[in-house]
Amino acid sequence: MQKEIEIALAPEFIYDTEYLLNVGSKQLKLDKNRIKGHHIRKRSIDARGRQVLYRLRVVFFIDEPYTPEIFSTTIKKVDNAPIVIIIGAGPAGLFAAYRCLERGLKPIVIERGKAVQERRRDLARINRDGVVNPESNYCFGEGGAGTYSDGKLYTRSNKRGDVQKVLQIFVQHGATDDILVDARPHIGTNKLPHIIEDMRNCILSHGGEIRFDTRVDDILESFGQARGVRTSNGETIHADHVIVATGHSARDMFALFRRKGWLVEAKAFALGVRIEHPQTVIDQAQYHCSTRHENLPAAYYSLVEQVQDRGVFSFCMCPGGIIAPCATAADEIVVNGWSPSKRNNPHANSGTVIQINLEDVPASASDPFALLDFQQKIEQQAFRLGGGQLVAPAQRMVDFVERRVSSSLPENSYKPGTRSVDLNEVLPDFVHQALRGALPLFGKKMKGYYSNEAILVGVESRTSSPVRIPRDKDNLQHPHVKGIYPCGEGAGYAGGIVSAAIDGINCVDAIRL
Ligand code: FAD
Repeated sequence: MQKEIEIALAPEFIYDTEYLLNVGSKQLKLDKNRIKGHHIRKRSIDARGRQVLYRLRVVFFIDEPYTPEIFSTTIKKVDNAPIVIIIGAGPAGLFAAYRCLERGLKPIVIERGKAVQERRRDLARINRDGVVNPESNYCFGEGGAGTYSDGKLYTRSNKRGDVQKVLQIFVQHGATDDILVDARPHIGTNKLPHIIEDMRNCILSHGGEIRFDTRVDDILESFGQARGVRTSNGETIHADHVIVATGHSARDMFALFRRKGWLVEAKAFALGVRIEHPQTVIDQAQYHCSTRHENLPAAYYSLVEQVQDRGVFSFCMCPGGIIAPCATAADEIVVNGWSPSKRNNPHANSGTVIQINLEDVPASASDPFALLDFQQKIEQQAFRLGGGQLVAPAQRMVDFVERRVSSSLPENSYKPGTRSVDLNEVLPDFVHQALRGALPLFGKKMKGYYSNEAILVGVESRTSSPVRIPRDKDNLQHPHVKGIYPCGEGAGYAGGIVSAAIDGINCVDAIRL
């Protein structure tokens, strides 16, 4: 017999199995010796009351042994199978390739950036010298934007597909099985590259191909049917199925669609700043304590406010994290955040953004690139105001709200450096006003949040794509060209690692031979 119950544990008991069995047998009103095994199905932290608790859903095996469920997929050798070209080795592209192996199709993945280890050197140069390699950076390279990220693996919607399957595949390739259980699973920047490498080796050993340092410069088409791609090496690869999973920063891919006369559309996206606090401030506010218990992770927050009909919300929060320079061109500033698996850095950061709608940029009514141009101009202005070498414009929080240039900036995690400016010179007025309205309100929700110890770093501009590549909702192909599958975040069908991975799987499932 199996029984699933909820158990609440104080942090000091979270790793104490005997204690868990005692509590379990008491709640189930049975002799502890009858429990032959147990399995934690879900684990979350409940910080609503004064006493912070772990809440577990636990399955107890009573008078019967515990038999763990084993996840398995059948992947095939695909050396001589029909080819599917996948442009981009981000989560969407990699999971599409993996799904090809399951379906008996041969993926040829073409990635403009480098393999994870070599890519690391370019990231070091970005942080140390403020120099961006436009082909190898935080957005471009093996694993895409997801590799050197926080690796948060939750998604707001489970409707898109099988989230658990994506998590299981990560576990098969080296992630800890905690991610199957935690309410807010994350992997961390130190572990993600090994997992991505392992997935690559699996794809290669089954007959798939991956070309790094190779950009797709053209998609071949005749009579409304995709025929293959031409790469930056001058090579032509033929196939009738081309998955375009190039991410939201591949502006040249959007430009290619425009040149070809294939439909693309302007799409709402989010814009704002990264906000960083000392992690202790967040811990104290969320856990109601002066010092966090050693069994509790660095605390997390999620904030949202409505200011003059505009939603202002925190996004991609990285406890114990680092603000990352994520531009893909030499003359732009784009920030985002990452954290290691232990989330043990002294600062907490999150994107704090508002949605930019099509009506905010009237030119988008006739120009599908108007929002992209708007985004790029703001990134370039941020670069200019920072003064070069990826130094980012920044302001203390209260100074920002009270419209004062900060006389000094707090110590922060953004490695290329920050420069004190009036962020109103970077952000459009309506964004500036909405943020100024929201921050004191966030402070009312979270003690210590609204403070001059916090820094705002500009600009958080690539949380989502400002362009959509449309596709038919049934066959997931572009309305003008059969065999082109716009996929993942760049095409406008995902927002985050898991949803991009699911979209990659869905695109392969849409292929009919
Ligand atoms: P991408 O990951 O953008 O991959 C696209 C790939 O295509 C890139 O590798 C690029 O080099 C390649 N490419 C582009 N053009 C071409 C071309 N012409 N030819 C060949 N290759 C090309 N999401 C989360 O869910 N959790 C997080 O914790 C998280 N943290 C993040 C932290 C950072 C620093 C960043 C930058 C992003 C973070 N994200 C996070 C967002 C997440 O990484 C993206 O949503 C996700 O990677 C999108 O996947 P994708 O496959 O659609 O596109």
